[in-house]
Amino acid sequence: MHLEKLTYKIKLVSFLWRMQKTDVCILGGGPGGATAALFLASKGISSVLIDKAKFPRDKICGDALSGKVVSILNKLNPELVNKLSSSSIQVGSFGVKFFAPNLKNIRIPFKKDYPAVGNAPGFISKRIDFDNFLIEQVKLQPLIQLIENTQLKYFKRTNNEWLVGLNENEILFSSKLLVAADGAHSAFAREFGKIEVEHEHYCAGIRAYYKNVSAMDEDNFIELHFLDELLPGYFWIFPLPNGQANVGIGMRSDIVSKRKANLKKLLPEIIEKYPSLKERFKNAELVDDVKGYGLPLGSKKRPISGDGYLLVGDAGSLIDPFTGEGIGNAMLSGMVAAEIALKAKNQNDFSKTLLKEYDEIVYRKLWNELSLSKRLQNLSKHGWLFNFVVNKASRNKTVQETLSCMFNDLDIRSQLRKPSFYFKLLFG
Ligand SMILES: Cc1cc2nc3c(=O)[nH]c(=O)nc-3n(C[C@H](O)[C@H](O)[C@H](O)COP(=O)(O)OP(=O)(O)OC[C@H]3O[C@@H](n4cnc5c(N)ncnc54)[C@H](O)[C@@H]3O)c2cc1C
Repeated sequence: MHLEKLTYKIKLVSFLWRMQKTDVCILGGGPGGATAALFLASKGISSVLIDKAKFPRDKICGDALSGKVVSILNKLNPELVNKLSSSSIQVGSFGVKFFAPNLKNIRIPFKKDYPAVGNAPGFISKRIDFDNFLIEQVKLQPLIQLIENTQLKYFKRTNNEWLVGLNENEILFSSKLLVAADGAHSAFAREFGKIEVEHEHYCAGIRAYYKNVSAMDEDNFIELHFLDELLPGYFWIFPLPNGQANVGIGMRSDIVSKRKANLKKLLPEIIEKYPSLKERFKNAELVDDVKGYGLPLGSKKRPISGDGYLLVGDAGSLIDPFTGEGIGNAMLSGMVAAEIALKAKNQNDFSKTLLKEYDEIVYRKLWNELSLSKRLQNLSKHGWLFNFVVNKASRNKTVQETLSCMFNDLDIRSQLRKPSFYFKLLFG
Protein backbone atom coordinates (compact mmCIF):
# COMPACT_ATOMS: atom_id res chain seq x y z
CA MET A 1 0.00 0.00 0.00
CA HIS A 2 2.82 2.32 1.05
CA LEU A 3 4.73 1.35 -2.05
CA GLU A 4 1.71 2.13 -4.27
CA LYS A 5 1.40 5.59 -2.74
CA LEU A 6 5.11 6.21 -3.16
CA THR A 7 5.05 5.10 -6.82
CA TYR A 8 2.08 7.42 -7.42
CA LYS A 9 3.92 10.35 -5.83
CA ILE A 10 7.05 9.68 -7.89
CA LYS A 11 4.92 9.51 -11.04
CA LEU A 12 3.16 12.76 -10.17
CA VAL A 13 6.43 14.56 -9.39
CA SER A 14 7.94 13.35 -12.66
CA PHE A 15 4.87 14.55 -14.61
CA LEU A 16 4.87 17.89 -12.83
CA TRP A 17 8.54 18.20 -13.68
CA ARG A 18 8.00 17.37 -17.34
CA MET A 19 4.81 19.35 -17.77
CA GLN A 20 4.89 22.58 -19.70
CA LYS A 21 3.99 25.93 -18.14
CA THR A 22 1.86 28.39 -20.09
CA ASP A 23 -0.02 31.60 -19.38
CA VAL A 24 -3.08 30.62 -21.40
CA CYS A 25 -4.35 27.16 -22.17
CA ILE A 26 -7.35 27.00 -24.54
CA LEU A 27 -9.51 23.92 -24.46
CA GLY A 28 -11.17 23.32 -27.85
CA GLY A 29 -10.19 24.55 -31.32
CA GLY A 30 -13.68 25.32 -32.67
CA PRO A 31 -14.55 28.91 -33.70
CA GLY A 32 -14.55 30.12 -30.06
CA GLY A 33 -11.17 28.64 -29.09
CA ALA A 34 -9.44 29.34 -32.41
CA THR A 35 -10.62 32.98 -32.35
CA ALA A 36 -9.38 33.43 -28.77
CA ALA A 37 -5.95 32.03 -29.75
CA LEU A 38 -5.74 34.22 -32.88
CA PHE A 39 -6.66 37.44 -31.01
CA LEU A 40 -4.19 36.53 -28.24
CA ALA A 41 -1.45 36.07 -30.84
CA SER A 42 -2.35 39.44 -32.40
CA LYS A 43 -1.65 40.97 -28.95
CA GLY A 44 1.68 39.16 -28.66
CA ILE A 45 0.45 36.56 -26.15
CA SER A 46 1.34 32.92 -26.63
CA SER A 47 -1.15 30.15 -25.92
CA VAL A 48 -1.60 26.42 -26.14
CA LEU A 49 -4.71 25.35 -28.10
CA ILE A 50 -5.75 21.76 -27.50
CA ASP A 51 -8.44 19.76 -29.30
CA LYS A 52 -9.53 16.15 -29.00
CA ALA A 53 -10.02 15.98 -32.76
CA LYS A 54 -7.64 16.21 -35.67
CA PHE A 55 -8.62 18.97 -38.12
CA PRO A 56 -10.35 19.03 -40.54
CA ARG A 57 -13.13 17.65 -38.35
CA ASP A 58 -16.92 17.74 -38.71
CA LYS A 59 -19.23 19.64 -36.36
CA ILE A 60 -22.99 19.19 -36.55
CA CYS A 61 -24.35 22.60 -37.44
CA GLY A 62 -26.53 24.52 -39.92
CA ASP A 63 -23.24 25.89 -41.34
CA ALA A 64 -24.60 29.46 -41.70
CA LEU A 65 -22.06 32.18 -40.97
CA SER A 66 -23.74 35.48 -40.10
CA GLY A 67 -22.61 39.07 -40.54
CA LYS A 68 -21.18 38.87 -37.00
CA VAL A 69 -18.70 36.20 -38.11
CA VAL A 70 -17.69 38.41 -41.03
CA SER A 71 -17.22 41.45 -38.79
CA ILE A 72 -15.02 39.52 -36.32
CA LEU A 73 -12.89 38.09 -39.13
CA ASN A 74 -12.54 41.68 -40.36
CA LYS A 75 -11.32 42.82 -36.94
CA LEU A 76 -8.80 40.00 -36.88
CA ASN A 77 -7.52 40.68 -40.36
CA PRO A 78 -9.58 42.13 -43.26
CA GLU A 79 -7.65 39.89 -45.65
CA LEU A 80 -9.37 36.87 -44.07
CA VAL A 81 -12.81 37.89 -45.35
CA ASN A 82 -11.45 38.25 -48.88
CA LYS A 83 -9.68 34.91 -48.53
CA LEU A 84 -12.89 33.22 -47.37
CA SER A 85 -15.13 34.88 -49.93
CA SER A 86 -12.84 33.90 -52.80
CA SER A 87 -12.49 30.29 -51.65
CA SER A 88 -14.62 27.41 -52.89
CA ILE A 89 -15.52 26.22 -49.37
CA GLN A 90 -18.41 28.68 -49.09
CA VAL A 91 -21.37 30.23 -50.86
CA GLY A 92 -22.29 33.85 -50.18
CA SER A 93 -25.79 34.38 -48.80
CA PHE A 94 -27.76 37.59 -49.31
CA GLY A 95 -30.80 37.01 -47.14
CA VAL A 96 -33.34 34.81 -45.45
CA LYS A 97 -36.62 33.40 -46.69
CA PHE A 98 -39.28 32.97 -44.00
CA PHE A 99 -42.03 30.42 -44.53
CA ALA A 100 -45.07 30.90 -42.29
CA PRO A 101 -47.17 27.93 -41.13
CA ASN A 102 -49.65 28.78 -43.93
CA LEU A 103 -46.66 28.10 -46.28
CA LYS A 104 -46.57 31.65 -47.66
CA ASN A 105 -43.08 33.09 -47.69
CA ILE A 106 -41.23 36.37 -47.73
CA ARG A 107 -37.70 37.00 -48.90
CA ILE A 108 -35.82 39.34 -46.59
CA PRO A 109 -32.40 40.57 -47.72
CA PHE A 110 -29.72 40.93 -45.02
CA LYS A 111 -28.93 44.40 -46.35
CA LYS A 112 -31.27 47.21 -47.34
CA ASP A 113 -29.29 48.01 -50.50
CA TYR A 114 -29.82 44.48 -51.93
CA PRO A 115 -29.15 43.60 -54.69
CA ALA A 116 -25.75 45.24 -54.29
CA VAL A 117 -22.49 44.02 -55.75
CA GLY A 118 -19.54 43.04 -53.57
CA ASN A 119 -19.08 40.47 -50.85
CA ALA A 120 -22.20 38.80 -49.52
CA PRO A 121 -23.19 39.85 -45.97
CA GLY A 122 -23.17 36.20 -44.81
CA PHE A 123 -21.77 32.84 -45.89
CA ILE A 124 -22.63 29.19 -45.67
CA SER A 125 -19.74 26.80 -45.35
CA LYS A 126 -19.59 23.24 -44.07
CA ARG A 127 -18.05 23.37 -40.62
CA ILE A 128 -15.50 20.76 -41.59
CA ASP A 129 -14.16 23.41 -43.97
CA PHE A 130 -14.80 26.66 -42.08
CA ASP A 131 -13.30 25.45 -38.78
CA ASN A 132 -10.31 24.14 -40.70
CA PHE A 133 -10.00 27.55 -42.41
CA LEU A 134 -9.59 29.08 -38.93
CA ILE A 135 -7.17 26.34 -37.86
CA GLU A 136 -5.07 27.03 -40.98
CA GLN A 137 -4.71 30.62 -39.67
CA VAL A 138 -3.77 29.21 -36.26
CA LYS A 139 -1.04 27.10 -37.85
CA LEU A 140 0.51 30.23 -39.38
CA GLN A 141 0.95 31.76 -35.91
CA PRO A 142 4.23 30.92 -34.13
CA LEU A 143 2.71 32.13 -30.85
CA ILE A 144 0.07 29.38 -30.87
CA GLN A 145 1.01 25.82 -29.99
CA LEU A 146 -1.73 23.63 -31.51
CA ILE A 147 -2.12 20.16 -30.06
CA GLU A 148 -4.64 17.86 -31.78
CA ASN A 149 -5.92 14.37 -30.98
CA THR A 150 -5.74 15.13 -27.26
CA GLN A 151 -8.83 14.90 -25.09
CA LEU A 152 -8.37 16.73 -21.81
CA LYS A 153 -10.25 15.17 -18.93
CA TYR A 154 -8.33 16.26 -15.86
CA PHE A 155 -8.50 19.78 -14.45
CA LYS A 156 -7.21 20.73 -11.03
CA ARG A 157 -6.89 24.15 -9.48
CA THR A 158 -3.81 24.41 -7.31
CA ASN A 159 -1.52 27.31 -6.26
CA ASN A 160 -3.45 29.79 -8.42
CA GLU A 161 -2.88 27.65 -11.51
CA TRP A 162 -4.75 25.03 -13.46
CA LEU A 163 -3.19 21.64 -13.97
CA VAL A 164 -4.67 20.08 -17.09
CA GLY A 165 -4.13 16.65 -18.49
CA LEU A 166 -5.44 13.35 -19.75
CA ASN A 167 -5.95 12.03 -16.23
CA GLU A 168 -4.44 12.62 -12.80
CA ASN A 169 -1.33 10.67 -13.76
CA GLU A 170 -0.82 12.41 -17.08
CA ILE A 171 -0.75 16.14 -16.51
CA LEU A 172 0.33 18.02 -19.61
CA PHE A 173 0.23 21.71 -18.70
CA SER A 174 0.03 24.12 -15.86
CA SER A 175 -1.65 27.34 -16.86
CA LYS A 176 -2.56 30.63 -15.19
CA LEU A 177 -5.67 31.00 -17.34
CA LEU A 178 -7.85 28.27 -18.76
CA VAL A 179 -10.15 29.28 -21.62
CA ALA A 180 -12.79 26.54 -21.87
CA ALA A 181 -14.13 26.56 -25.43
CA ASP A 182 -14.95 22.86 -25.53
CA GLY A 183 -18.46 23.19 -26.88
CA ALA A 184 -21.99 22.25 -25.89
CA HIS A 185 -20.97 19.19 -23.91
CA SER A 186 -18.22 20.98 -21.95
CA ALA A 187 -17.31 18.85 -18.95
CA PHE A 188 -15.32 21.79 -17.55
CA ALA A 189 -18.32 24.16 -17.66
CA ARG A 190 -20.46 21.55 -15.91
CA GLU A 191 -17.94 20.79 -13.17
CA PHE A 192 -16.44 24.21 -12.46
CA GLY A 193 -18.90 26.70 -14.01
CA LYS A 194 -21.84 24.73 -12.55
CA ILE A 195 -23.65 25.10 -15.89
CA GLU A 196 -26.42 22.51 -16.07
CA VAL A 197 -28.56 21.57 -19.06
CA GLU A 198 -31.90 23.34 -18.49
CA HIS A 199 -34.35 22.08 -21.07
CA GLU A 200 -36.20 25.37 -21.52
CA HIS A 201 -32.83 27.02 -22.28
CA TYR A 202 -31.54 24.25 -24.52
CA CYS A 203 -32.36 23.15 -28.03
CA ALA A 204 -32.03 19.84 -29.85
CA GLY A 205 -30.93 19.97 -33.47
CA ILE A 206 -30.42 17.52 -36.30
CA ARG A 207 -28.54 18.05 -39.54
CA ALA A 208 -28.67 16.22 -42.86
CA TYR A 209 -26.56 16.84 -45.97
CA TYR A 210 -28.47 16.36 -49.23
CA LYS A 211 -27.65 16.76 -52.87
CA ASN A 212 -30.15 17.60 -55.65
CA VAL A 213 -32.69 19.56 -53.62
CA SER A 214 -34.45 21.65 -56.27
CA ALA A 215 -35.70 25.28 -56.36
CA MET A 216 -32.87 26.66 -54.21
CA ASP A 217 -32.76 30.44 -53.99
CA GLU A 218 -30.78 32.18 -56.75
CA ASP A 219 -28.91 34.40 -54.23
CA ASN A 220 -28.50 31.65 -51.65
CA PHE A 221 -31.07 33.03 -49.23
CA ILE A 222 -31.26 30.67 -46.28
CA GLU A 223 -34.73 29.17 -45.71
CA LEU A 224 -36.47 28.96 -42.35
CA HIS A 225 -39.77 27.04 -42.42
CA PHE A 226 -41.89 27.72 -39.34
CA LEU A 227 -44.16 24.70 -39.64
CA ASP A 228 -47.03 24.21 -37.21
CA GLU A 229 -45.72 20.97 -35.71
CA LEU A 230 -42.30 22.50 -34.94
CA LEU A 231 -43.20 25.87 -33.39
CA PRO A 232 -41.37 27.61 -31.77
CA GLY A 233 -38.70 25.63 -33.64
CA TYR A 234 -38.19 25.35 -37.37
CA PHE A 235 -37.12 23.26 -40.35
CA TRP A 236 -34.29 24.75 -42.42
CA ILE A 237 -32.76 24.41 -45.86
CA PHE A 238 -29.42 26.17 -46.37
CA PRO A 239 -27.59 26.11 -49.71
CA LEU A 240 -24.02 24.79 -49.77
CA PRO A 241 -21.20 24.67 -52.33
CA ASN A 242 -21.33 21.97 -55.02
CA GLY A 243 -25.11 21.94 -55.23
CA GLN A 244 -25.53 20.43 -51.77
CA ALA A 245 -27.88 21.61 -49.02
CA ASN A 246 -27.80 21.53 -45.24
CA VAL A 247 -31.26 20.49 -44.07
CA GLY A 248 -32.31 20.25 -40.45
CA ILE A 249 -34.69 20.78 -37.58
CA GLY A 250 -34.22 22.66 -34.32
CA MET A 251 -36.65 22.40 -31.41
CA ARG A 252 -36.40 23.47 -27.76
CA SER A 253 -35.57 20.47 -25.58
CA ASP A 254 -38.50 20.89 -23.15
CA ILE A 255 -40.85 20.79 -26.15
CA VAL A 256 -39.08 17.74 -27.60
CA SER A 257 -39.67 15.97 -24.26
CA LYS A 258 -43.27 17.16 -23.90
CA ARG A 259 -44.17 16.01 -27.41
CA LYS A 260 -41.94 12.93 -27.21
CA ALA A 261 -40.63 14.11 -30.59
CA ASN A 262 -38.07 12.08 -32.49
CA LEU A 263 -36.42 14.67 -34.74
CA LYS A 264 -34.66 12.11 -36.93
CA LYS A 265 -38.01 10.48 -37.67
CA LEU A 266 -39.73 13.82 -38.10
CA LEU A 267 -37.39 14.98 -40.88
CA PRO A 268 -38.55 12.58 -43.62
CA GLU A 269 -42.15 12.81 -42.33
CA ILE A 270 -42.15 16.59 -42.84
CA ILE A 271 -40.65 16.31 -46.33
CA GLU A 272 -43.33 13.74 -47.19
CA LYS A 273 -46.20 15.71 -45.60
CA TYR A 274 -45.80 19.07 -47.37
CA PRO A 275 -46.33 18.77 -51.16
CA SER A 276 -44.04 21.75 -51.93
CA LEU A 277 -41.20 20.14 -49.98
CA LYS A 278 -41.96 16.69 -51.38
CA GLU A 279 -41.60 18.06 -54.88
CA ARG A 280 -38.29 19.77 -54.07
CA PHE A 281 -36.86 16.59 -52.51
CA LYS A 282 -38.12 14.34 -55.33
CA ASN A 283 -34.59 13.71 -56.64
CA ALA A 284 -32.72 14.55 -53.45
CA GLU A 285 -30.25 12.10 -51.96
CA LEU A 286 -28.74 12.04 -48.48
CA VAL A 287 -24.95 12.28 -48.66
CA ASP A 288 -24.29 11.50 -45.00
CA ASP A 289 -26.13 10.09 -41.98
CA VAL A 290 -28.59 12.37 -40.21
CA LYS A 291 -26.84 13.54 -37.02
CA GLY A 292 -27.97 15.38 -33.89
CA TYR A 293 -26.31 17.65 -31.31
CA GLY A 294 -27.31 20.07 -28.54
CA LEU A 295 -27.55 23.87 -28.63
CA PRO A 296 -27.10 25.57 -25.22
CA LEU A 297 -29.12 28.76 -25.55
CA GLY A 298 -28.20 32.15 -24.17
CA SER A 299 -31.76 32.88 -23.08
CA LYS A 300 -30.57 33.11 -19.48
CA LYS A 301 -27.59 35.01 -18.02
CA ARG A 302 -25.08 32.76 -16.33
CA PRO A 303 -21.69 33.35 -14.68
CA ILE A 304 -19.15 32.63 -17.43
CA SER A 305 -15.92 33.16 -15.54
CA GLY A 306 -14.34 32.15 -12.25
CA ASP A 307 -10.96 31.80 -10.59
CA GLY A 308 -8.50 31.38 -13.45
CA TYR A 309 -11.03 30.48 -16.12
CA LEU A 310 -13.32 31.86 -18.83
CA LEU A 311 -16.12 30.00 -20.62
CA VAL A 312 -16.28 30.77 -24.34
CA GLY A 313 -18.95 30.00 -26.96
CA ASP A 314 -21.19 26.99 -26.38
CA ALA A 315 -19.32 26.15 -23.17
CA GLY A 316 -20.78 29.43 -21.85
CA SER A 317 -24.24 28.81 -23.40
CA LEU A 318 -24.27 31.78 -25.76
CA ILE A 319 -26.39 30.58 -28.70
CA ASP A 320 -29.09 32.95 -29.98
CA PRO A 321 -32.41 31.44 -28.79
CA PHE A 322 -34.40 32.50 -31.87
CA THR A 323 -32.04 31.97 -34.81
CA GLY A 324 -29.80 29.24 -33.33
CA GLU A 325 -26.75 31.27 -34.33
CA GLY A 326 -23.79 30.33 -32.16
CA ILE A 327 -20.67 30.64 -34.32
CA GLY A 328 -20.65 34.46 -34.26
CA ASN A 329 -21.23 34.56 -30.50
CA ALA A 330 -18.51 31.95 -29.91
CA MET A 331 -16.07 34.06 -31.93
CA LEU A 332 -17.15 37.26 -30.19
CA SER A 333 -16.66 35.72 -26.75
CA GLY A 334 -13.26 34.34 -27.91
CA MET A 335 -12.29 37.86 -28.93
CA VAL A 336 -13.35 39.30 -25.54
CA ALA A 337 -11.55 36.45 -23.73
CA ALA A 338 -8.30 37.55 -25.43
CA GLU A 339 -8.85 41.19 -24.28
CA ILE A 340 -9.37 40.08 -20.69
CA ALA A 341 -6.44 37.67 -20.81
CA LEU A 342 -4.20 40.57 -21.84
CA LYS A 343 -5.40 42.64 -18.88
CA ALA A 344 -4.99 39.71 -16.47
CA LYS A 345 -1.47 39.01 -17.74
CA ASN A 346 -0.43 42.66 -17.50
CA GLN A 347 -1.62 42.83 -13.90
CA ASN A 348 -0.56 39.25 -13.14
CA ASP A 349 -4.01 38.78 -11.65
CA PHE A 350 -6.12 35.84 -12.81
CA SER A 351 -8.56 36.00 -9.92
CA LYS A 352 -12.30 35.72 -10.39
CA THR A 353 -12.64 39.38 -9.36
CA LEU A 354 -10.59 40.55 -12.32
CA LEU A 355 -12.01 37.99 -14.75
CA LYS A 356 -15.60 39.02 -13.90
CA GLU A 357 -15.15 41.86 -16.38
CA TYR A 358 -15.36 39.18 -19.09
CA ASP A 359 -18.99 38.47 -18.13
CA GLU A 360 -19.76 42.19 -18.12
CA ILE A 361 -18.32 42.83 -21.59
CA VAL A 362 -19.78 39.70 -23.20
CA TYR A 363 -23.26 40.38 -21.88
CA ARG A 364 -22.99 44.11 -22.62
CA LYS A 365 -22.34 43.17 -26.24
CA LEU A 366 -24.85 40.31 -26.45
CA TRP A 367 -27.59 40.55 -23.86
CA ASN A 368 -29.84 43.02 -25.73
CA GLU A 369 -29.79 40.72 -28.71
CA LEU A 370 -30.18 37.50 -26.70
CA SER A 371 -33.09 38.80 -24.62
CA LEU A 372 -34.88 40.14 -27.71
CA SER A 373 -34.39 36.79 -29.39
CA LYS A 374 -35.85 35.11 -26.33
CA ARG A 375 -38.89 37.34 -26.79
CA LEU A 376 -39.07 36.45 -30.49
CA GLN A 377 -38.78 32.77 -29.60
CA ASN A 378 -41.79 33.17 -27.29
CA LEU A 379 -43.76 35.01 -29.96
CA SER A 380 -42.94 32.36 -32.51
CA LYS A 381 -45.04 29.83 -30.56
CA HIS A 382 -48.02 31.48 -32.22
CA GLY A 383 -48.46 30.24 -35.77
CA TRP A 384 -51.22 32.78 -36.50
CA LEU A 385 -48.76 35.60 -35.76
CA PHE A 386 -46.33 34.28 -38.37
CA ASN A 387 -49.12 33.98 -40.90
CA PHE A 388 -50.17 37.54 -40.15
CA VAL A 389 -46.67 39.05 -40.39
CA VAL A 390 -45.79 37.16 -43.58
CA ASN A 391 -49.12 38.05 -45.22
CA LYS A 392 -48.64 41.68 -44.26
CA ALA A 393 -44.99 41.83 -45.35
CA SER A 394 -45.72 40.22 -48.70
CA ARG A 395 -48.00 43.19 -49.45
CA ASN A 396 -46.19 45.99 -47.65
CA LYS A 397 -42.66 47.14 -48.52
CA THR A 398 -42.19 49.11 -45.26
CA VAL A 399 -42.90 46.03 -43.17
CA GLN A 400 -40.49 44.05 -45.38
CA GLU A 401 -37.76 46.65 -44.88
CA THR A 402 -38.37 46.76 -41.14
CA LEU A 403 -37.98 42.99 -40.91
CA SER A 404 -34.87 43.17 -43.08
CA CYS A 405 -33.28 45.74 -40.77
CA MET A 406 -34.02 43.51 -37.77
CA PHE A 407 -31.25 41.19 -38.92
CA ASN A 408 -28.58 43.85 -39.09
CA ASP A 409 -29.59 46.67 -36.91
CA LEU A 410 -30.16 46.04 -33.25
CA ASP A 411 -31.75 49.46 -32.81
CA ILE A 412 -34.49 48.37 -35.14
CA ARG A 413 -34.75 45.00 -33.43
CA SER A 414 -35.18 46.86 -30.17
CA GLN A 415 -38.30 48.48 -31.66
CA LEU A 416 -39.86 45.20 -30.61
CA ARG A 417 -39.90 46.55 -27.08
CA LYS A 418 -42.12 49.46 -28.11
CA PRO A 419 -45.91 49.21 -28.49
CA SER A 420 -45.69 51.67 -31.46
CA PHE A 421 -43.85 48.97 -33.49
CA TYR A 422 -46.85 46.64 -33.22
CA PHE A 423 -49.22 49.50 -34.01
CA LYS A 424 -47.26 50.22 -37.22
CA LEU A 425 -47.19 46.51 -38.06
CA LEU A 426 -50.93 46.20 -37.56
CA PHE A 427 -52.07 49.35 -39.24
CA GLY A 428 -49.05 50.35 -41.38
C1 LIG B 1 -27.93 21.24 -35.39
C2 LIG B 1 -27.23 22.55 -35.15
C3 LIG B 1 -27.35 23.59 -36.06
C4 LIG B 1 -26.66 24.80 -35.85
N1 LIG B 1 -26.70 25.77 -36.81
C5 LIG B 1 -25.97 26.89 -36.69
C6 LIG B 1 -25.86 27.83 -37.75
O1 LIG B 1 -26.37 27.62 -38.85
N2 LIG B 1 -25.14 28.97 -37.54
C7 LIG B 1 -24.52 29.22 -36.35
O2 LIG B 1 -23.91 30.29 -36.20
N3 LIG B 1 -24.56 28.31 -35.33
C8 LIG B 1 -25.24 27.16 -35.47
N4 LIG B 1 -25.23 26.21 -34.47
C9 LIG B 1 -24.46 26.48 -33.24
C10 LIG B 1 -22.96 26.29 -33.49
O3 LIG B 1 -22.70 25.02 -34.04
C11 LIG B 1 -22.18 26.46 -32.17
O4 LIG B 1 -22.69 27.56 -31.49
C12 LIG B 1 -20.69 26.63 -32.41
O5 LIG B 1 -20.11 25.47 -32.95
C13 LIG B 1 -19.97 26.99 -31.10
O6 LIG B 1 -18.58 27.03 -31.29
P1 LIG B 1 -17.59 26.64 -30.08
O7 LIG B 1 -16.21 26.98 -30.57
O8 LIG B 1 -18.08 27.22 -28.83
O9 LIG B 1 -17.74 25.06 -29.91
P2 LIG B 1 -17.50 23.86 -30.95
O10 LIG B 1 -17.61 24.33 -32.33
O11 LIG B 1 -18.39 22.75 -30.50
O12 LIG B 1 -15.98 23.45 -30.70
C14 LIG B 1 -15.59 22.81 -29.50
C15 LIG B 1 -14.27 22.08 -29.76
O13 LIG B 1 -13.81 21.54 -28.52
C16 LIG B 1 -13.28 20.25 -28.74
N5 LIG B 1 -13.37 19.53 -27.47
C17 LIG B 1 -14.50 19.19 -26.79
N6 LIG B 1 -14.18 18.57 -25.63
C18 LIG B 1 -12.82 18.52 -25.59
C19 LIG B 1 -11.90 17.99 -24.63
N7 LIG B 1 -12.30 17.42 -23.50
N8 LIG B 1 -10.58 18.09 -24.91
C20 LIG B 1 -10.14 18.67 -26.06
N9 LIG B 1 -10.98 19.19 -26.98
C21 LIG B 1 -12.29 19.13 -26.74
C22 LIG B 1 -14.14 19.66 -29.86
O14 LIG B 1 -13.45 18.64 -30.56
C23 LIG B 1 -14.40 20.90 -30.72
O15 LIG B 1 -13.46 21.03 -31.76
C24 LIG B 1 -25.89 24.98 -34.67
C25 LIG B 1 -25.77 23.93 -33.74
C26 LIG B 1 -26.42 22.72 -33.99
C27 LIG B 1 -26.25 21.59 -33.01
